[in-house]
Amino acid sequence: MRKRGQGPEGVAVLGATGSIGVNTLKVLAMHPERFRVIALTAHRQIDRLQEQCLTFRPPLAVVPEAHAAEALAEALRRAGCETEVLAGPEALSTAAADARVATVVCGIVGAAGLDSAWAAVRAGKRVLFANKEPLVMSGHLLLAEAAASGAELLPLDSEHNAIFQCLPPGRVPSEAGVRRILLTCSGGPFRDTPASHFAHVTPDEACAHPRWVMGRKISVDSATLMNKGLELIEACRLFGVKPADVEVVIHPQSVIHSLVEYVDGSVLAQLGNPDMRTPIAHALGFPERIAAGVTRLDLATIGRLEFAPPDEVRFPALRLAREAAEVGGSAPAVLNAANEVAVEAFLQGELSFAAIPAVIEAVLSAQPAVPAASLEAILAEDERARALARERIDASPKRGVKAC
Ligand code: NDP
Ligand code: MG
Repeated sequence: MRKRGQGPEGVAVLGATGSIGVNTLKVLAMHPERFRVIALTAHRQIDRLQEQCLTFRPPLAVVPEAHAAEALAEALRRAGCETEVLAGPEALSTAAADARVATVVCGIVGAAGLDSAWAAVRAGKRVLFANKEPLVMSGHLLLAEAAASGAELLPLDSEHNAIFQCLPPGRVPSEAGVRRILLTCSGGPFRDTPASHFAHVTPDEACAHPRWVMGRKISVDSATLMNKGLELIEACRLFGVKPADVEVVIHPQSVIHSLVEYVDGSVLAQLGNPDMRTPIAHALGFPERIAAGVTRLDLATIGRLEFAPPDEVRFPALRLAREAAEVGGSAPAVLNAANEVAVEAFLQGELSFAAIPAVIEAVLSAQPAVPAASLEAILAEDERARALARERIDASPKRGVKAC
């Protein structure tokens, strides 16, 4: 459990080499008296992990393969750094549950982060969730587990962190006079692009987000608006609201990160420059406020904040996610699995951008929802959806566009 006032708080950064991980380490580096990095994990970017270990000197690091673990441990030892390097997916959970760790930052992308997120929750940690896919798949069970273990779940996703900041502390929205949640969405790189161009979109174009610098998978999700669809489900999971209580609003400037409307007509918003260090610092320091190193918001320079409804015809992913949220059961996990497979196929040049929602819709139609009462049931549906998506992609015409 988390202990304050007894020296620096131990932090495990899962997915340390990614966009969330690197931003988290920037914030942690500003507060050495307050936080101590206990564990860092990487998947492919072992060199980057090595640099991070030399900077933060964590007692633990995790990589996927045993031979890479040995090589990294040896290189670190030669540089006078005694980090123990563990290998394999189960070592991610070991790091998350380590007794020296009070706070776990879940920054792995996709369902690959599910087991370690569960390990952190089971171990009763303070768990900072960027990795939205485990919440979409199993958020209802994770919240129940957190209630049993004493884990504290805090959202890092900028919209959910904003909603969290606009809700009264410790109250269920339905009992606190909340009428609806307004989830803002930049619109992604193709906000004004005609659907006729979508068949020709390249991975590089899809990964070039106008406001945020993020990993490739979430960048593609932002371009299809599936990111907003996953976030709609994430909001329902985290805040116990219904899909109909969440409205998506296009807001190209990405200055308002989300809003909460109350029954008296008040609408509370959280604003800030689009920089993930703000929600990361908020959640790391909560309930206190700590510096994040971000540029201050200058509204006069921004000048104008615009809003528009989303176009669910050009961006069917949002509709598919809302429908999956309404159906419930295994549908969100199936949606997520099909999306992960389709996005990876797009990034590998195997599937067109336009075909991503078509693959997901086909999988959702072929795999009717079943109850999602256990993690095992969800994982079985996830596996089935991945196989169905793969079949569908293999049967579709090849793209022949080079991957980014
Ligand atoms: P990145 O692709 O930049 O980073 C992903 C991290 O996960 C990297 O450290 C990567 O390691 C690691 N990783 C990838 N695959 C595996 C695997 N199979 N096993 C273990 N580790 C793995 O992604 P982001 O940081 O952009 O996103 C991370 C999560 O946060 C996503 O779920 C995303 O939706 C969410 N999020 C991200 C935001 C952002 O601003 N980036 C904003 C809000 C939410 P390596 O790099 O070494 O291969
Ligand atoms: Mg977000």
